[in-house]
Amino acid sequence: MNNDIEKVLISEEEIKQKCQELGERLTKEYEGKFPLAVGVLKGAMPFMSDILRAMDTHLEMDFMDVSSYGGETRSSGEVKIVKDLDTKVEGRDLLIIEDIIDSGLTLSYLVDLFKYRKANSIKIVTLLDKPEGRKVDIKADVVGFHVPNEFVVGYGLDYKERYRNLPYVGVLKPKIYGGE
Ligand code: 5GP
Ligand code: MG
Ligand code: MG
Repeated sequence: MNNDIEKVLISEEEIKQKCQELGERLTKEYEGKFPLAVGVLKGAMPFMSDILRAMDTHLEMDFMDVSSYGGETRSSGEVKIVKDLDTKVEGRDLLIIEDIIDSGLTLSYLVDLFKYRKANSIKIVTLLDKPEGRKVDIKADVVGFHVPNEFVVGYGLDYKERYRNLPYVGVLKPKIYGGE
């Protein structure tokens, strides 16, 4: 699997340090509260696991699966709920955890949904931000790293469901996409 990677963009060590730093920041921001951490499956899974364990605060976890991508590397522009939350959102302080914001379609859909469900507050934390890909105006409150407008994999991010278990974020060799 590691053989398929052209270059590493963000190392395991950098990710580890960032999760610690952001976890400490969020600990302060949620002091005395009981936030509902909403992980957006499947990509946010490793990041969610690391960042929440770096938070010294009581919190609740739940998961949502929303897809705006097919098996390919381009956004379809369509958002659909694959799995909804089990937890009631009304009155809760939501911490949405994402792997990456590209077009922003997924998150703007989620934010609208949670506003409609009367969340008390909504904060977005994303491991990666690709500002050049934006189609709708949405910003994360907390960003781990900015990445260039390239398709990245690893640490939750897939290409055709593979590479999510890489401990770092990288770019695939062109031959993996069938090119050369
Ligand atoms: P958006 O709705 O902001 O365009 O993107 C939402 C989802 O598309 C992300 O949560 C992620 O699953 C996927 N995505 C966007 N950019 C990339 C990328 O560079 N690599 C991978 N593997 N997935 C991406
Ligand atoms: Mg995602
Ligand atoms: Mg994907």
